[in-house]
This record gives sequence, C-alpha cells and structure tokens, in this order.
Amino acid sequence: MLRLHEVALIYPNGVRAVLPTSITVPKGQFLVLLGPSGAGKSTLLRCLNGLVRPTQGDITIEGWGSIFQSGRTLREHRMRTGMIFQQHHLIDRLTALQNVMIGRIGAHGTFRSLFPLPRSDRIVALQSLERVGLIERALDRADKLSGGQQQRIGIARAMAQRPQIVLADEPVASLDPATGEKVLADLHRICREDGITAIVSLHQVDLARRFADRVIGLVNGRIVFDGSVSQLGQTTLDGIYLTSLSQTPKRQQWN
Ligand code: ADP
Repeated sequence: MLRLHEVALIYPNGVRAVLPTSITVPKGQFLVLLGPSGAGKSTLLRCLNGLVRPTQGDITIEGWGSIFQSGRTLREHRMRTGMIFQQHHLIDRLTALQNVMIGRIGAHGTFRSLFPLPRSDRIVALQSLERVGLIERALDRADKLSGGQQQRIGIARAMAQRPQIVLADEPVASLDPATGEKVLADLHRICREDGITAIVSLHQVDLARRFADRVIGLVNGRIVFDGSVSQLGQTTLDGIYLTSLSQTPKRQQWN
C-alpha cells in the first residue's frame, strides 16, 4: 500500500503544481490519472518516484515507511519502482535486449554495474521481452523498431526491475489509438499477473474506462474526482477538462 500524506509541490518559480493531496493506493491497483495539460500529473508521478521532493507532506510505503527517510531508502524505493515514459527513453544504438538489461542495473551496486551483468540478469531481461511479445526482436537495434515496439521495450525494461510499483507518464500518447490500446493492454495484463501497483497518466478517457480500477481527475494540481470508472460520467469529465479552461493561471489565482 502506497500513501500520500498531504503531499504538495511548489516549483522554485512559484508554480503550485500539486496542492496538498492525501490518497492511499492499495497494492495491485491500476490507477489512472486524468487531467488536462499542466494539471500536475507528471509532477505527481515524479514525486512518487522521489525524482522531485515534495515541498510539503510525505510518501510512505506499507512496511517501509517514508521513501524520503534517507538516501538509501530512496534508492531502494526507486529499485522497486519501474518508470515508463511517453518517449520511451531508449538508447537507439543498443539492441532491444541491451535496453531491457538497463532495468537490471539498479539491482547491483555502482561498482558491480561497471562490469557485464550476470547471466541471470540476461535471463530476466529475455523473460521480460517475451512477456511483451518481442523475444524475436531481442537483437535488433532499438531504432529499427516501430513506436509501439519501442514502448513495449520500455515496458519490458521497467518489468526487468521486478518492480512492485509502476509509474507511467502518458505511456501511449505518441502512439496511434489502436497500437496505444494494445500496448496499454500489455502493461495492464503484466501488472495484474504480478500484482504490481500501477499509476498511469493518460489523455485518452476511453482507455481509462477500459483499464482503470480507479480514476483520479486532476485540475490545476487539485484532485477533483476520485472514483471508479462507473462513476466517471460526462459531468465529471466536463469538470475535469472544462474547468481548467475557465480558470485563471494558478500563480495569480493562488497567490
Ligand atoms: P501535466 O503532467 O498534468 O501536464 P505537469 O506536472 O507537467 O502537468 O505541470 C504542472 C504545472 O507545473 C504546470 O503549470 C507546469 O507548467 C509546471 N511545471 C512543470 N514542471 C516544472 C518545472 N520543472 N519548473 C517549473 N514549473 C513546472
């Protein structure tokens, strides 16, 4: 179980990207964040991975306590947390397999990771590739793969970490709708099979409806909806997507 306790983030330029937020995410939940651009979805995901430190509040994991307790706790949290990005962040000149093996580096100390990774890591990486249906492309260079395949490699790399939590920031935003749905279906299936908690920001409401156990709607850093897909009616969606258009820029609004 993952908990945010009154987490808020103000960037140094004064933008209040996330207003005080408290939520509990049960283990294995597939949680989708919806909201217009600038709502604070990426910032929230970056806080959850400890990439940015909230200016207020805390993030705890059941059995571990605060992820910010020490540098070591934060490193351990990151090892248990797989990240998936919109632009995959693959290394073009490396093969699919080498990219996926990058997911294993965090499992070793800095010194050990300077040497070739053990065979067992190669096996984990190959298994991850198999789970996204790309085992036969293992030795192809990443830049020779299609957008959908590259994002599958991104998913396989995250899964090679053997994560307990996956954070995905607009993972299918750069794919065509049909490919995006298939890629998200793969991510959803693997998270279900492994009991991974997933927090996924999406632009596509139809995909949220199809896959989410729970949807959180964000507008200007504030949660305006938190419920199941069945509660996500048109009025709620208008509240998420239209409210932001009618609001003044947040620095003026909240100062
Ligand atoms: P979303 O992912 O929903 O599009 P973001 O979390 O990227 O939203 O952005 C939330 C707000 O924080 C926006 O107003 C954005 O301009 C601002 N913001 C994002 N990153 C930074 C940053 N590094 N420095 C200052 N402001 C930022």
